[in-house]
Amino acid sequence: MVSRRMLLGALASGLAVPALAWAEGDNPTPSVLTRKGRRTRRALKSQATDKAALDKALAEVKPLEDPNAVEPAEVHPPAVSPDEALGRLKQGNAIFARGGASIALPSLVRIAELSKGQRPFAVIVGCSDSRVGPELVFDCNLGELFVVRVAGSTVSQEGLGSIVYAVEHLGAPLVVVLGHTKCGAVGAAVDVATKHVDLHGALLNMVLPIMPAVLEAQDKHPADLQDAAIRQNVRDVAARLKVADGTLAEKLSEGRLKIVSATYDLASGVVAFDA
Ligand SMILES: [Zn+2]
Repeated sequence: MVSRRMLLGALASGLAVPALAWAEGDNPTPSVLTRKGRRTRRALKSQATDKAALDKALAEVKPLEDPNAVEPAEVHPPAVSPDEALGRLKQGNAIFARGGASIALPSLVRIAELSKGQRPFAVIVGCSDSRVGPELVFDCNLGELFVVRVAGSTVSQEGLGSIVYAVEHLGAPLVVVLGHTKCGAVGAAVDVATKHVDLHGALLNMVLPIMPAVLEAQDKHPADLQDAAIRQNVRDVAARLKVADGTLAEKLSEGRLKIVSATYDLASGVVAFDA
């Protein structure tokens, strides 16, 4: 059996070079060889031998470990239902909001176990705000939450791909779009809408996806527009996620996935779920 280390050593020593060249266009033609002008018959023979050796080595190398191929039950608890996952988040937040934390830092053994695979029970779509770290807020540990965070809790195409990955490949049964009180990103969107604050470049791009929620909230003339927009924004993001991707929609219709919105209160530590 050839180890990956041996193969990498062979690659580093140049063994792979002819094979890579061939890989680009099987069996180089004489014209190519003539143009390059450096490959003698002897060198070709040597390369052929090397190619055969490399093919043999490649055939014997074990494929890259696919973390998703690891039997989750060996390393992680079994998958939970969407409602069970939601219950765990609610329970975790109740512990956090009481000022307690039942989760200890993971041991080195646990860290090593997790290197074999992950099976997060929830995806958290959150804001980048430093005061709303999802693992802390939900009293969770490494390997339990798959987190996508952008200021304003919005979701780009890359973020959507991350969510689909977690649901489809890691088996996460729950997506929570988590906003928080006094969100500065939503506040900036409110300022653009009401005070015509001039944002540009990347900051404007960050705020634009929040604007529909601000306008929607504005129509209802709330006492606190920023707070209303924060709650509207997470509801909107959750609603969009439900129709944004075929895989998510299918799992939703089969009851194998829930997508809910929620708002974290900075002052009390309590998460209010919309479901
Ligand atoms: Zn925020």
